[in-house]
Amino acid sequence: MYYISKLKLKEKVIFYKKNARIGFIIKKIKAMPREFMNTGMINKEIPKEYTYFKVTGLENIINKKCFGTPSILICIDEGCTAHSFNGDNEPVYTVNIAGSGILLGVDKVVELFKNKPALKENIKTLTWHVGCGAASLAKKDNPEITADGFVRDLAKKLKEELGMDCSVLEIADPSDKKAEAHLTRPLEYHNAMVLYVNATEKAFNYKKNKLLPPGFTLDYGFFGEETTKGELAVALSIAFGDHGMKEKITEENPFIINYITEKEEEIPSWITDTVKKFESENKDTENKILIKSAKIDLS
Ligand SMILES: [Zn+2]
Repeated sequence: MYYISKLKLKEKVIFYKKNARIGFIIKKIKAMPREFMNTGMINKEIPKEYTYFKVTGLENIINKKCFGTPSILICIDEGCTAHSFNGDNEPVYTVNIAGSGILLGVDKVVELFKNKPALKENIKTLTWHVGCGAASLAKKDNPEITADGFVRDLAKKLKEELGMDCSVLEIADPSDKKAEAHLTRPLEYHNAMVLYVNATEKAFNYKKNKLLPPGFTLDYGFFGEETTKGELAVALSIAFGDHGMKEKITEENPFIINYITEKEEEIPSWITDTVKKFESENKDTENKILIKSAKIDLS
């Protein structure tokens, strides 16, 4: 005979009530948009490539393979590292500009393309991505603007003005099985501990070399100081912000800015000045930013 004492029954009721409550809480957390979750709950991990990179240095790792002809316009975000979509998962060469140019506006981006045959002739895809910080910044000035709407307008204008035929593509949440392209960082936070300033006029993708850690990419060689200087300030505030590696960036594990150049040259003053300004406005970031340069021979 099956028998439960009154006491046992009471225990069971409490047990089920408790579990129902836990289930309810889990359901609530799952329903939260992941990018808006409390950063205190996020277990941030330093990318495994960073430790090796910090000791070895960019100049000993970087190679020609990382550079090529651009085919995709994409954000400076370290998770925007396009791969070909024909199934081989091979990274493709990207040209990076914050929010695909959303902070500059359509006309300015068209102007930049007009002066660069390498972009005009080769870019075939324009992208926008989930959780784009640049798109959120643009929204502050213009609440009507959307990341995908901007990219569609840009595609239209590039066709009208320069005869370019570009498709548009979303870089989606990594868990979105149906999407064609995915963000290659955790959706909840930016894991970049480095930043690449590409001063060459070849497109760069750090994913082409497995030893390179995830990093923001600024295409100084294509877009010049005026555009790139602002992007550097935005990238630093993301890296040291709540959605960045913030507390993981220390004097021992600094945020490394890597200036990549084909010439024998000093690090440009717009980089050092931007960093100095950022440090003076954010005292807790002092001695946590390292600027390095590496020369690459692409001939
Ligand atoms: Zn973005």
